[in-house]
Amino acid sequence: AKEHGRNGFAFFKPGNDLKNSQRLQVENELRMALERNEFVVYYQPRIDIETRIIIGVEALVRWNHPERGLIQPNDFIPQAEESGLIVPIGNWVLQTAVRQGKKWCEQLVPIKMSVNLSPLQFKQLDIIKWVSETLEDENFEPSLLNLEITESMAMNVEYSNKVLEGLKEIGVKISMDDFGTGYSSLGSLRKMPIDYLKIDRSFIHNIDNSPEDVAIVKAIISMAQSLQLQVIAEGVEKEEQLLLLQRLQCDEMQGYLVSPPIPAKDMEKMLSHNPF
Ligand code: C2E
Ligand code: CA
Ligand code: CA
Ligand code: CA
Repeated sequence: AKEHGRNGFAFFKPGNDLKNSQRLQVENELRMALERNEFVVYYQPRIDIETRIIIGVEALVRWNHPERGLIQPNDFIPQAEESGLIVPIGNWVLQTAVRQGKKWCEQLVPIKMSVNLSPLQFKQLDIIKWVSETLEDENFEPSLLNLEITESMAMNVEYSNKVLEGLKEIGVKISMDDFGTGYSSLGSLRKMPIDYLKIDRSFIHNIDNSPEDVAIVKAIISMAQSLQLQVIAEGVEKEEQLLLLQRLQCDEMQGYLVSPPIPAKDMEKMLSHNPF
């Protein structure tokens, strides 16, 4: 079943049920939203587990709809992907996030900026050129940009490794998002030029009262370490979970325990009160 936004309301029906006319309408709405600048980027802190300092943020898009209010990504990203509009939307997110990151780096501290790449963006033949031009235009340190991909995007190993190698040549870091929910194994990660592994929040959710989940997360972390990957735990909501992850030597965490994704202004306040 499709996840709904936190307001519990799906703006659009799942893509496959849409008739052509509805599909066109959705496409028009998204295109207008882009023109009218209705998308906004929220930021969720990434915390170094050992020091509890915010060392980065993840950029997460929202749609500030004039009538319907704030619409969560799960309620429009699938439609944006299907219509192809995820490419200009995603490019706008990257540019906005990098520009914001540059400001924070200058005013506060060097901060890593994670940006999600959609499968369709990843398939664009000019993806490497676009990323490098954006970094140059915004004068952002490439090694502070972390692009997040998912396992399904790496199915075509030859193509994905070519793109990933190209991105690494620019100096950008790569994260494997939602790890554990797809098909790839830790074995296949060995052949991929990635830097970070993000353990999906479904493995973290119960970690404080499930020995099985502890065992899985422990195994993921120890294998990631042997592959020289940094590990980020997603969806940490409780102090007990954080303490457990610290014991397991997980590198970083994100989650409601510290903060949900928040507007740039609020993130700025958090950054100046670092550590949390
Ligand atoms: P994701 O990349 O896995 O992002 C993490 C999601 O988990 C975010 O949902 C975040 O709010 C949520 N989350 C963080 N900590 C916790 C926690 O402690 N508990 C729980 N229950 N949830 C937590 P969000 O912002 O609604 O985004 C959903 C998905 O939409 C993202 O999943 C990503 O796949 C997609 N998305 C968001 N922004 C973009 C974007 O700019 N481009 C693309 N292509 N996809 C995006
Ligand atoms: Ca992500
Ligand atoms: Ca994720
Ligand atoms: Ca996800």
